[in-house]
Amino acid sequence: MTDLTADATVIEQPGAGTAARNPAAPGGGRTVAAAVPASLVARLAAGVTAAGEPALVETVAPLTGERLAGLPQSTPADVEVAFQLARRAQPAWAALPVRRRAAVLLRFHDLLLKRQDEVLDLIQAETGKARLHAFEEVLAVAMAARHYGRAAHSYLRDKRHGGALPVLTQAIEARRPKGVIGHISPWNYPLELSIGDALPAFAAGNAVVNKPDTQTALTALWARELLIEAGLPADLWQVVIGDGPVIGPAVVEHADYVSFTGSTRTGREVAQRAAARLVGASLELGGKNAMLVLADADLDRAAEGAVRACFSSAGQLCISIERLLVHRSVADEFLARFAERTRALRLGGGLAYGADMGSLVSVRQLDATVRHVADAVKAGATVVAGGRARPDLGPFFHEPTILDGVTPDMAVCAEETFGPVVSVYRFDTEDEAVAAANSTPYGLNSSVWTKDLRRGRELAARLRTGTVNVNEGYAAAYGSVSAPMGGMGESGLGRRHGAEGILRYTEAQTIASQRLIPIAPAFGLDDRQFAAVFTGGLRVLKALRFK
Ligand code: NAD
Repeated sequence: MTDLTADATVIEQPGAGTAARNPAAPGGGRTVAAAVPASLVARLAAGVTAAGEPALVETVAPLTGERLAGLPQSTPADVEVAFQLARRAQPAWAALPVRRRAAVLLRFHDLLLKRQDEVLDLIQAETGKARLHAFEEVLAVAMAARHYGRAAHSYLRDKRHGGALPVLTQAIEARRPKGVIGHISPWNYPLELSIGDALPAFAAGNAVVNKPDTQTALTALWARELLIEAGLPADLWQVVIGDGPVIGPAVVEHADYVSFTGSTRTGREVAQRAAARLVGASLELGGKNAMLVLADADLDRAAEGAVRACFSSAGQLCISIERLLVHRSVADEFLARFAERTRALRLGGGLAYGADMGSLVSVRQLDATVRHVADAVKAGATVVAGGRARPDLGPFFHEPTILDGVTPDMAVCAEETFGPVVSVYRFDTEDEAVAAANSTPYGLNSSVWTKDLRRGRELAARLRTGTVNVNEGYAAAYGSVSAPMGGMGESGLGRRHGAEGILRYTEAQTIASQRLIPIAPAFGLDDRQFAAVFTGGLRVLKALRFK
């Protein structure tokens, strides 16, 4: 175990020197154990649906390797109970006016901003990420809460349609909640991916059974507590914890709709189970995201942007950049500036602002990162910056790493690393850059850097990814919460945010009323005459430009 008191211990990497944004790391002396005491763990753990004397699973604080919590494990029978409780609570919630439900989200927004330090501690303790990166989650969740708190009413209100026969048929499209949503979330953004996706489900009148990753369950449980404080009926959000391959399928088995975020491999399995039950699913999966630096890019801004895009949450971000495609004419200059900034990043392990990058979450993520770097180097790639695990800082730390000379035979070229490793490639023409960016089965996020915004947007249209950021890495698109976010290809199905992010949790119901005449032979017309009258009517409607 590494002896780190959690007071923003910040270690400069060799070559560091230009990161002056947080020159003095704040103190505080709080250890993970002090920030997440046993009493807090016990209080939060009481929110898990698990009967009797459940088995406990221990989690470890990635920053230090010390024991963090013993968490009760739900069984498949507990999952069934969770769905029963949620199902019982849901109709009364759905019967409330949308604005009453949305008001809970707005109160939650205020509580979250006020009490953010509590959850920043938890996120850091459970994931090991830097506090700044934990704050990104608070930001994202607050934005989603505000958006759906304000806009749910307009997304969900009844819409009138021109009916089958003008004037005589009136059709209304209504939105009904699905019922109980099965919501499975990963460890990498534990606040955003547990509650961020649940908020629109609640606003739409659903209950939610959430299975967070055990490693980051405390954060989800804290969010649940806060939402209850904001006015959510307690039974409406059930949290079950347990082994993914056991409890995950149990959640899918009972759900009226599944919202899943995680790896493409697991996503496929979830999709198959949901399909067998004929329930819908949205799947937010992996990526191998590219950033294109065009010849006219502002290289300093692009280099700064690349640092954020590649190393936020130590690269354990589904939309982070793992491939840098740079125009050959500026590649050396860009790489020099990017490498200088990367070497200057300060790795740190404290529960306070100050470090530029934290730890990886687990030995599994560390091993995957080390393997990708080692394989690439063995096959001839060059390490431009970083390249080493840093057990001197904590058990799972790894330096932010830039690789050059990566070739298609290397795993790091096409497989998602999900760690702080980026490879640099050069291109001569934009066609070549687009082809390279699109040469992956994934299609989650991409980024284009150019001084010519119009050109950037034109290029964006040729990239096969659900989000494209021009002159930003990922935050511009992700933070634009009224616009949809999600993946093409093997990066997923469906979208979070915007209209799609809430309508996925609803069933469309059309209520059509017919007046005066039936849509069938009447008034003494025989079948042939009816067909002739309606044929003429259809021609007239088209000529009159009826939709
Ligand atoms: P994972 O697929 O291993 O686990 C995700 C969740 O699924 C966990 O809660 C896990 O316990 C559960 N699970 C495991 N097996 C299951 C099964 N058979 N049935 C149902 N649920 C099961 O993914 P991970 O390693 O925890 O997360 C990292 C991955 O998530 C990366 O690939 C990353 O790109 C992706 N991700 C995508 C997004 C997005 O929005 N597209 C966001 C964050 C992470």
